[in-house]
Amino acid sequence: MLSPSKLTDNPWQALGATHADTTARLDGVAPNSLGRTPASLFHRDSWSAYARILRRASPHRPDLCYGIEIGTANMKLAACDAGGAVQYSERVDTAGFSFDEIVDAVCDLVGAADSALATKAPLGLAVPGIVDSATGLHQTANLACLRGRTLLPLLRARLNRTITLGNDCHCFALSEAHGGAGAGQPSLFGLILGAGAGAGYVVDGRLVLGRNRAAGEWGHWPLAPALLARYGLRSLPCPCGASACLERYLAAPGLRHLHAYQIGEADVPLDALVKRSDAGDSIARASLALHAELLGAAIAHIVLAYDPHVIVLGGELSRMSHLYKDVPDAVRAHLMPGLQAPPILPSHFGDTGGARGAALLVRQYLPASLELS
Ligand SMILES: [Zn+2]
Repeated sequence: MLSPSKLTDNPWQALGATHADTTARLDGVAPNSLGRTPASLFHRDSWSAYARILRRASPHRPDLCYGIEIGTANMKLAACDAGGAVQYSERVDTAGFSFDEIVDAVCDLVGAADSALATKAPLGLAVPGIVDSATGLHQTANLACLRGRTLLPLLRARLNRTITLGNDCHCFALSEAHGGAGAGQPSLFGLILGAGAGAGYVVDGRLVLGRNRAAGEWGHWPLAPALLARYGLRSLPCPCGASACLERYLAAPGLRHLHAYQIGEADVPLDALVKRSDAGDSIARASLALHAELLGAAIAHIVLAYDPHVIVLGGELSRMSHLYKDVPDAVRAHLMPGLQAPPILPSHFGDTGGARGAALLVRQYLPASLELS
């Protein structure tokens, strides 16, 4: 008989296991290991078997998976069916929450969804930063209450279900690859430009994660020294421990920094900066042009490393329409002759993409082999 407790989970679920155990599990379910890359997110046979388990555990909606994105200011839950359609959603404000309050909020959201949908669905979690694959400790600069803590053991004990952990930018990219701006494309690079800068890379509908689940940590690539010198920019320290990381110049605080560098005017709201640029303010235009130039150069490096078929932008800065006009030209200017710049598109799902992608992530980590007892 199949047992949910014996499903092979995301290695990030294997907290408390030895590093060797974790690596073994990773090798066993690696969704993108060579020769095993499926064309679809869903292993149909595995999903059918898993669905039988879910029908016993949750007879009313066995097709549903929950996804929760834990952000710096709020937490969002999306319940998605097997086709990726959001059937239920909810969000709560969590600004300033402690670690224990975050745990409580996750449990409250899941409990409310269980009651509303009369089911008990598996859960995917999208969190910022990375998780140490050996210790399970969260390493994140943007959500300080998680740093150095582990979420999964507490949540699994309280929620008693399969829980899959993923990076928020990875989940965003996965969501946009399935029914979003990158639907039908062989590969997609999803960039989030908000409080920080991160990314996820999806090939044939499945996330490429890498050994440390760190693939796509593009925000911590260094800005090219030649660009620092050309524009006279300072090498800014980054909370990750390095300096001159792309995030420090290209995320929302980075754009404000570039504008402050231009004229010494700090903390200008970005919507005000755009309005001033649209009204013909030459300094505001210069700030946005410098940002687009640096972003284009950084995306050109993505093309050289990953050569994605499409790039999808999310986060606060993705609402700035000039990026879709100015950045492609900047990308082309930094590519060698003969290389085409990929289309750069706004996200389809907006700020619900992370939660939806977390639900899809549960399906990506469907067991490659179900244990029998
Ligand atoms: Zn960094």
